[in-house]
Amino acid sequence: MATATLTIDLDAIIANWRALDRLTGAEVQTAAVVKADAYGLGVARVARALAKGGARRFFVASAEEGVAVRQALGPGPQIAVFSGHMSGDTEMIRGLDLTPMLNSLDQITRHLEALPGHAFGVQLDTGMNRLGVEMAEWRAVAPILIKAGPELLMSHLACADTPDAPENEAQLAEFHAMTDDTDLPRSLAATGGILLGPEYHFDLTRPGIGLYGGLPFDAARPTVRLSLPVIQTREVATGETVGYGGTWIATRPSVIATVAGGYADGLLRALSNRATLWDGDTPCPLVGRVSMDLITVDITDLVGAPPSLDILCPAQGVDDLADAAGTIGYEILTGLGPRYQRRYLER
Ligand SMILES: *Cc1c(COP(=O)(O)O)cnc(C)c1O
Repeated sequence: MATATLTIDLDAIIANWRALDRLTGAEVQTAAVVKADAYGLGVARVARALAKGGARRFFVASAEEGVAVRQALGPGPQIAVFSGHMSGDTEMIRGLDLTPMLNSLDQITRHLEALPGHAFGVQLDTGMNRLGVEMAEWRAVAPILIKAGPELLMSHLACADTPDAPENEAQLAEFHAMTDDTDLPRSLAATGGILLGPEYHFDLTRPGIGLYGGLPFDAARPTVRLSLPVIQTREVATGETVGYGGTWIATRPSVIATVAGGYADGLLRALSNRATLWDGDTPCPLVGRVSMDLITVDITDLVGAPPSLDILCPAQGVDDLADAAGTIGYEILTGLGPRYQRRYLER
């Protein structure tokens, strides 16, 4: 079969959620961010596993994503939407009981007019300048809005993966200034914010990447293995080239394995001549360009040809692969393509 296998360890995801939950006080709730198809790992299976593991609140990017999570979980758990209440979302928010995090005066007006009495939260901008109500607007609307009973006031840190960045304390101070005179539940920390310490935890944390084994949660258990089947092997003489553009030239008699998987599967072309594949603990360099469906690998130093080579495995996690491509683990995970055969491990 020329289809790669992506193995997703749901128990590891649950263990990571519990580990992040233990980093905060008993009175601090830990939600689970499952946007972008649970960072590429499959939102229905992941959300159900996390709910079984104890998660009661989930965050998604859009109302459409919230629909998929509600269908997976059924009634009960809270599903909150970072992008808030957009025009066209009202029926989804009502029908599937989603909780929009309102980001602007437009959204606040839309929500209170269309769905009075329906749950909502408010996202505040404390300095990232991406989503959320800013201080001046907040001052103007807070008295009315607080009477309508928001379930959560939240904001998002721009530099939480850099503990020494002065922006963290500045955003923390701004969040206090905007919310201290309310007694509403508050949330500031995603994965990085949890690791910054208790003053960032407030009432609820919202980890995403840490659940899926990515930095900055360096104590995370890896959650994915990606095995690419070897389709063909060949001997290449010294001086011959491999792949598009002939960018790799054999400097010794070599054995090249061609494996299934390419940039159409999220194995970025930037990995050309840079990444490593693994036969168990033995590294084998990726040689030549990554093409759409195929990758070529130097297996000269192996004894025989293995049935498959791993590109994500215990020896090489998502952040290692991201480093080779000049990106971040988030992008590797969310880019994992639809062609893989997905296997879920669950006790
Ligand atoms: C994506 C996101 C999160 C989760 O962030 P991680 O860094 O993956 O833990 C939390 N809050 C908001 C607003 C987000 O956009």
